[in-house]
Amino acid sequence: MSEEEAKAESTPAAAEETAAADAPAPVADADAAEPTASADEKKVEEEAKPATVDGADAAPAKSTEDEEKKAAEVRAAVEEEAKKEVEAEEAAKKEAKRKSAEELTKRLQRLALDHQKENTHERLQVIQADQSSHLSSAKTFQELNLPKHLLDAIFEMGFERPSAIQEEALPRILADPPRNVIGQAQSGSGKTAAFVVGMLFRIVVDAPASVQALCVTPTRELAVQIVQKAVAPMAAHMTGLKVQLALAGEMVERGKRVDAHLIVGTPGKIVDWMKRKTFITKNIKVFVLDEADNMVAESGHRANSLLIKKQMPKSCQSLFFSATFPDEVVQFATKMVYNPDKILIERGPEALVSSLWSLTACRATFLLSCP
Ligand code: AMP
Repeated sequence: MSEEEAKAESTPAAAEETAAADAPAPVADADAAEPTASADEKKVEEEAKPATVDGADAAPAKSTEDEEKKAAEVRAAVEEEAKKEVEAEEAAKKEAKRKSAEELTKRLQRLALDHQKENTHERLQVIQADQSSHLSSAKTFQELNLPKHLLDAIFEMGFERPSAIQEEALPRILADPPRNVIGQAQSGSGKTAAFVVGMLFRIVVDAPASVQALCVTPTRELAVQIVQKAVAPMAAHMTGLKVQLALAGEMVERGKRVDAHLIVGTPGKIVDWMKRKTFITKNIKVFVLDEADNMVAESGHRANSLLIKKQMPKSCQSLFFSATFPDEVVQFATKMVYNPDKILIERGPEALVSSLWSLTACRATFLLSCP
């Protein structure tokens, strides 16, 4: 028991006194509290007064400064928040715009490909190396027996049907045993998707990665575009796939090997890496040469491409694409691809296909297999 409680127990009057002191102030006493309240106001007023020179009032002034600082901070935070909201709104608008532009581009591309197909379908001449084989064209992606991850990716890319060149090239590219293919295809025909599907189809994702597909292009821009626009979306479901660009400026430490399943690059860098044994060629299953007409236009590229071809394993499949086939490209193709199926535009402008390939199927095959 406390001292007060003991006192209250001993004298009832004292107990009353104690209770009164403990109880909240009665309503009637509210006025009595006023002087205290105005004293508080005074205190606030005094605090608001500027600090005196001798520093006696420095503390209140400092607290005002602190409050102002805090208010400024709050204002800045609110402004920052508002700015972020505006930025997020703008980014969302931009993204929506980009998506609709992308969708429109895809629709236009589909239309262009369909249009092209209507015009070129009956003009595509297929010269099969093996006359007795009856590989038919594929009207749908489903009939190509692609693994699910590639078929899903194709549809996710917005491709509904194979383009004209894909109809003819894909059954050959994916055939078992694989066929070598020479395709006459300009950009916009869908040839990139055709050979990228071919490369991804043959790659088995292993670890550490072994190089299983090699794609050679005449320019770095084309190499980057192939990787970004075709390989990346097409391999969206190929967990663990590693791709390496082989371009001037790409470094692989001395003594180290390229850790990739697929290499895309220009001839000079690829030859450089081959000489330094930066990657092993013995596991390469697919060799692609794109834009061959631009390749022959540069003698260094032509010579390096031939060096690369020589390093490919015997069983390696070769896919060779060019928009035009004048004599020098036909001769280059003859050295680069053994016994190919040829998919050519039958009645393209005269200059596009050398007279060497305007011959009968048998004769053309003979010419190509006997360089
Ligand atoms: P390319 O001829 O490889 O430069 O491809 C031209 C464009 O057509 C690229 O943007 C491809 O994404 C697109 N493309 C390729 N194949 C198809 C297809 N089967 N359906 C719709 N678009 C395609």
